[in-house]
Amino acid sequence: MVSGYLLQRITALSVKEETGRGLSFVKRVYPARALGLGLGALAVGAALLPQQHPLFFWALWAVNGFIWPHLAYFKALRSQAPFQTERKHLLFDSTSGGFWVAAMGFNPLASSMIIMMLWMNNIAAGGVRLFLKGVVGSVAGLALGLLVFGWQLNLVSGQLIVFACLPMLVAYPVAIGSITYRLAIQLHKQKELLKQISRVDGLTGLYNRHYWETRVSDLMAMVRRSAQPLSLILLDVDHFKSINDTHGHLTGDQVLQQIARLLRLNLRESELLGRYGGEEFALVLPNTDKEAAYATAERLRRLVQLAHFDTDKGATGLSCTISLGVASYHAGFQSYSDWFRAADQALYAAKEEGRNKTVLSCSGLYKADIATA
Ligand code: GH3
Ligand code: MG
Ligand code: MG
Repeated sequence: MVSGYLLQRITALSVKEETGRGLSFVKRVYPARALGLGLGALAVGAALLPQQHPLFFWALWAVNGFIWPHLAYFKALRSQAPFQTERKHLLFDSTSGGFWVAAMGFNPLASSMIIMMLWMNNIAAGGVRLFLKGVVGSVAGLALGLLVFGWQLNLVSGQLIVFACLPMLVAYPVAIGSITYRLAIQLHKQKELLKQISRVDGLTGLYNRHYWETRVSDLMAMVRRSAQPLSLILLDVDHFKSINDTHGHLTGDQVLQQIARLLRLNLRESELLGRYGGEEFALVLPNTDKEAAYATAERLRRLVQLAHFDTDKGATGLSCTISLGVASYHAGFQSYSDWFRAADQALYAAKEEGRNKTVLSCSGLYKADIATA
């Protein structure tokens, strides 16, 4: 059975999609950025240490490495367009990375490591386009750095630089791996949820016609092999139009939901109930012959007849009835359509006989009918 919980999740998902566009992106990027910039700053600091720089320069280094990622995060969260804002932040990171490369005199180890981390962030967050923009940003930052610091080379990576790079070399790939893993799990869950949504009728939470038919054809294939009895019941709400006309369409919706719940609650998990269309439901009973199916149909008919439906649109104690057509599957049917037509004809007969009735299809007669048709 498709639960109310699932319907809540569906609604929650679409509301989240509407209101939270971009926020999840910002949250996803934040840990990688904060860790990468912090650890990258250690390596840059180690390469800059032997040089003589004024205090404000070190302040700039500290702000860029340790404070900026968090400021940027809160700025993006408050932004009207978090997604675009965060992409700008990533490009700013790449640009500042180029600036620090020039400041370090192109120190090979520290430079390649921070550029690797920044470009990796870009490609992970925005694919090749953001990566290429990041490359352009880094070149621009490099040019700015060369203007400020002039051309200098610092090609020796001493022990301090090597040790300062180690945390990044070890921790960053592990962090990225764990973020990727979490993302894969989340994607898998969303895929499962979407799969569920595609099977469900939005109003009643029952299987929709397409999925119900897929399940029925699987059952038919099984039955052909095992020769188990299989029965089909078509249910149609009687004079449902007058409920809509008298109480309004929204009340009609709620009555349909309550009928669906009532039916579902009174069936076994293995009994396949779907909303076939409008105010029609279809039910397949595995391992059930026509007499047992008729008994089930009568039980459902009486349950609906005795029920009173209250709605939050002001209507209380509404009652209605259903008509049902029953047909058991047998080898004489060439296809699902033949079987369905037999149940549909029985349903039509139930309507003709005055409604609030169950009619069992006489499949022998039905076969004769199509022979003479
Ligand atoms: P009968 O006993 O012959 O089946 O009469 P009926 O009025 O139930 O049948 P008819 O086919 O004339 O009308 C079906 C009505 O069901 C008309 C349509 O607006 C209503 N209906 C179909 N789907 C929905 C739905 O999702 N919500 C609501 N509120 N009404 C629906
Ligand atoms: Mg009807
Ligand atoms: Mg109908």
